[in-house]
Amino acid sequence: MPETVMDKLVSLAKRRGFVFQSSEIYGGLGSVWDYGPLGVELKKNIKERWWRSMVHEREDIEGLDAAILMHPKVWEASGHLAGFSDPLVDCKHCKNRFRADDPRIKGTPGQPDAQCPVCGTKGSLTAARQFNLMFKTFMGPVEEAAAVVYLRPETAQGIYVNYLNVLQSSRQKIPFGIAQIGKAFRNEITPGNFIFRTREFEQMEMQFFVKPGTEGEWFEFWRAERLKWLHGLGIRPEKLRWHQHGKDELAHYARDAYDIEYEFPFGWNEFEGIHHRGDFDLSNHQRASGKKLEYLDPATNERFLPSVIETSAGADRTALVVLCDAYREEEVEGEKRVVLQLKPSLAPLKAAVFPLVNKDGMPELARRIHDDLRGAFNVFYDDGGSIGRRYRRQDEAGTPFAITVDGQSTQDQTVTVRDRDTLKQERVAAGQLAAYLNAKLAG
Ligand code: ATP
Repeated sequence: MPETVMDKLVSLAKRRGFVFQSSEIYGGLGSVWDYGPLGVELKKNIKERWWRSMVHEREDIEGLDAAILMHPKVWEASGHLAGFSDPLVDCKHCKNRFRADDPRIKGTPGQPDAQCPVCGTKGSLTAARQFNLMFKTFMGPVEEAAAVVYLRPETAQGIYVNYLNVLQSSRQKIPFGIAQIGKAFRNEITPGNFIFRTREFEQMEMQFFVKPGTEGEWFEFWRAERLKWLHGLGIRPEKLRWHQHGKDELAHYARDAYDIEYEFPFGWNEFEGIHHRGDFDLSNHQRASGKKLEYLDPATNERFLPSVIETSAGADRTALVVLCDAYREEEVEGEKRVVLQLKPSLAPLKAAVFPLVNKDGMPELARRIHDDLRGAFNVFYDDGGSIGRRYRRQDEAGTPFAITVDGQSTQDQTVTVRDRDTLKQERVAAGQLAAYLNAKLAG
C-alpha cells in the first residue's frame, strides 16, 4: 500500500521527536501518545498562545487549574453518567468493537446483512448498545462502589463548580469568563488517526458567563474571536470551515453549537467547538448540591443564573492541525525535501547553529553564538554530518532559521542565516542575531 500523508507525518513525528507511541517497547498502549522533545515545545507554544489571548490579554477572563478528580456527584449532575455514551456494536466473531456510526460498517448492525469491517464476517455484528466513555477508578484503600471516582471527560465541570469562588475572589462582574487548560480522559472506542482521537488528551476550554438574553451576541463574538485566533496560528483559511450541529447532533448540554473543522488528510473533522450551554450546568449543580449559584447583579439588584457560551478546543487536535497544515514535500534543486512550515513563533526550535566545518575556530565561535542565544531562544547546536544534511534535519523539525559559521565569520564576526521557507541566506553580524530573531519571531 502506498504511504499516506498521515503515515508520513506519523513517521516524521517519531523520527524528529515530536510524538511517540505510549509504552512502545511493550507494544504500545492503544491511542495513547507521548510528546517528545520537539512535540512538547510545539504543544506548549500553542497552549501559551491560547492562555495569553484568553487570560492575559483580556480583563474579563480569569484562569483556573482544577483537579482531574472531582466529587462523583459532579458527573451525575452534569449528565455525563447518564448521557455521555456512544452507541457501540461488537463483532461476535473477531471480538472487535466499533462505533455504530463507523462508516466502514456495511449493512445494519444486529441484522444478517451487517458485515464486520475487520474480519469481514456477515451477520456477526450485535445491535448497538450504549457504552459510557468515562474512565472509572477508586479513591482510598477499598475498591467498592462507594469509592468510585471518574477521570474527568472534560475540563468544563471544574470551571462550573468553581464559578462562584472565582467570581467572588476576582471581583469580576457578569459578563466574564474562566479559562482552563488541562487533561481530560475518554474511553474512546474507535480511536485512531494518530493524536486526533486519543484516550488521554488536553483541552483548552473557556466558559463565558453572560446575562440571559445576551447569549446570541456573545455566541457570535466568540465564534469570530476563535476563528481570528486560528488564523493567527498561520493555518490556511481555506482549510477551515464551520459546521453547525443539527438537532440530532447536539450534545446533551447544548442549545446551539458550531464546530470548527479542518481538512485533515483523512477528511474534514472537528477540532474545536463553540457551544451555547444555556444554564444547563449551573442549574443542575445548583439543584444537585443545594447551593445557590445565582448571580446578584449589583447594578439592578436582579438575581439570575447566568448562561454559558463555551469555547472548547483540544490542544492535541490543534497541534495535529498545525502539523498537518505545515507539512510540505518540495523539490529543491532536483532533490526532494520535507519541511514543516510552522509559524516561527510556534516552532519548537527557533534556530539551529552550525559550524560549516569542525576546524579553524568555527566550532568555538558557533558554540559561543549558541550559548549567547540560548538564554532567550530555544536553539540547537549541530556539528554532525554534511551541512546539507543538517539543513534537511532542521527543515523536518520546522526550525525557521539556520545560522552557519563559516570561514568569513571568524574574520569579521558575521554569519549566514538561512530562511527555512525561502531558502535565502543573508549575512548578519553575530552581535545582531538576537534582534534579528526577535523581529522575525514577532506575531
Ligand atoms: P468528537 O465528536 O470528535 O468525539 P466531541 O464533539 O465529543 O468530539 P467535545 O466534547 O466538544 O468533542 O470536546 C471539545 C474538543 O476536545 C474537541 O473539539 C477536540 O478538539 C477535543 N477532543 C475531544 N475528544 C477528544 C479525543 N478523544 N482526543 C483528542 N481530542 C479530543
